[in-house]
Amino acid sequence: MRAVVYQGFAEPPSLVEVADPVPPAGGVVVRVEATGLCRSDWHGWQGHDSDISTFPHIPGHEFAGVIASVGAGVIGWQEGDRVTAPFVFACGACPECVAGDHQVCRRQQQPGFSLPGSFADYVVVTDAATNLVALPLAVDLDRRQPRLPLRHRVPSRRRPGTCRRR
Ligand SMILES: [Zn+2]
Ligand SMILES: [Zn+2]
Repeated sequence: MRAVVYQGFAEPPSLVEVADPVPPAGGVVVRVEATGLCRSDWHGWQGHDSDISTFPHIPGHEFAGVIASVGAGVIGWQEGDRVTAPFVFACGACPECVAGDHQVCRRQQQPGFSLPGSFADYVVVTDAATNLVALPLAVDLDRRQPRLPLRHRVPSRRRPGTCRRR
């Protein structure tokens, strides 16, 4: 797939070919149809976040798209479903998650920080049961409407929300 990567903090990003991701057990691969650029991406690029520790690194954590492939054990989601996901990918099983506090999951991951991000053709979402959010039909992925943040349109407790970083 194509991906925007950088080889080190504050290095110029470049568009390269990398291996296609495969869906993990319980997770999915999303074909990215739209992705935002956030100040947190800039902080990550500048080296302000210790969650970024390996290179080349694919940034990007605010995205929407279509499920391209589904991992083992995923129930209720299938290829072609239109989805987004919160910035924090929660585990769904730790005490914080069981209490409904996914944003402070003790085993959380973030695309574009601890995981490869969405500045690519495809991005992995872990634990689909916890982290995927279905997009309403009113969100038109083909029109690429960036003016109204997705969080204002997604009628779910698991809204993407604002990025918590800065
Ligand atoms: Zn958790
Ligand atoms: Zn953000």
